[in-house]
Amino acid sequence: MRPYLLYSDGEGNIFEDNSLYAVGRAGWDAFEVEPDQWIPLPEGGNLYELPGRKGIGIDVHTGEMRLCDKGWAVAAFIPPAHTTLWLSAYETSPDAPTLPLFCYTAAGWMDGKHWVTAVKIEQDIRQEAAGYNEDAIANGTKQLLQQYPENRLVKHLMENCCMTYHCPAARNFSLHRWECPIPVSPACNANCIGCISFQPEDESIVSNHDRLTFKPTVEEIVEYTVPHLMEAPYPIVSFGQGCEGEPLLMWETIAPAIQEMRKHTQRGSININTNGSRPEWVKALCEAGLNSIRVSTNSARKSIYEAYYRPNNYQFEDIVESLRVANSYGCWTSINYFVFPGMTDSNEEYEALRKLIRTTGLSMIQWRNFNIDPDWYLGKIGVTETGEMWGVKQMMEMIRDEFPDLKFGYFNPPIERIKGNYATDFAHH
Ligand code: SF4
Repeated sequence: MRPYLLYSDGEGNIFEDNSLYAVGRAGWDAFEVEPDQWIPLPEGGNLYELPGRKGIGIDVHTGEMRLCDKGWAVAAFIPPAHTTLWLSAYETSPDAPTLPLFCYTAAGWMDGKHWVTAVKIEQDIRQEAAGYNEDAIANGTKQLLQQYPENRLVKHLMENCCMTYHCPAARNFSLHRWECPIPVSPACNANCIGCISFQPEDESIVSNHDRLTFKPTVEEIVEYTVPHLMEAPYPIVSFGQGCEGEPLLMWETIAPAIQEMRKHTQRGSININTNGSRPEWVKALCEAGLNSIRVSTNSARKSIYEAYYRPNNYQFEDIVESLRVANSYGCWTSINYFVFPGMTDSNEEYEALRKLIRTTGLSMIQWRNFNIDPDWYLGKIGVTETGEMWGVKQMMEMIRDEFPDLKFGYFNPPIERIKGNYATDFAHH
């Protein structure tokens, strides 16, 4: 059995077309998907109708690929801890609107339920939809705002991130558990095409979050992070969030904040999510006591990286050097690897990724879903042909075989997992 293609009536109603089997997309092309690459749509996932796009499927009788003329194409937004293996396959009409900054995973219908082409890459439960109790979050928010009445950062995290954007990290902070966010930077030294906190006025899409508008003080950072490190289960405090620019630009605030935190407690992990643009500032943070670093990238290839990040006064080699420097200080080093089927698993990317892992002594790959309109992305970076490819699942297996100590996941690991038993020391049922 294979999943049937899904289509929408353009009014939010989604149906299966049992004259067509669902397929997947990689790069600019549609492909038949192996049965073992489909999983039931995980809890917390959503289905999207894609205006101005017609789904591509395989005719159940002829075996030929053809368009579905019954309605608009459909894709799935899969929840954290799962990685996309194939994109939704469709044909886009010339006047179709650019899609917003979400991931568009291939989806289908079979045995009375929805299926997606994805793999569960992470066992840590920190962002499981079922784990968020709205009443407890509201109480925690109220309590934190009362506890820190003058703290602009707590106010931003609770009123904006937690109660408006429903940010999983801010919601975990309100519940006094796991990874707690520390946004610090109103500015950035990159111009990512799919930036989720800033999109130029003339762009056809909007950013998902408004960027932080103030520079927090060391005192504002330390006031709420020290109790979290001392009391929360599997505590991590993370600079670099979706609602800010580049945290490294605030290294002169972050370094003394880290030192101040460590004066109070040695518990937990102090992490930075960053574009890795300035290795000399990474060095200063490692010397201040940073425990782990996650560098975001859409590619291990200079040309593809720079076409997307459009960096100001830094280049791809700098992010490689930041990972290498952090590793030399014994920091846990991850890449926040935006997975795009056809690009990520191209042979060129595979070779570049192997080189990056060897050059930097990388600890972990966080195989993240790339939240971007596929046509818009490939068009913007000027890719018309993606070349030979392995398939995302196969590429993961090849990397795992060659680098058995390299960890795969979706989230920054707590210090217990880094220093303890990696297989068990993390948030789980
Ligand atoms: S590095 Fe982050 S904040 Fe800066 S442009 Fe890219 S996505 Fe936006």
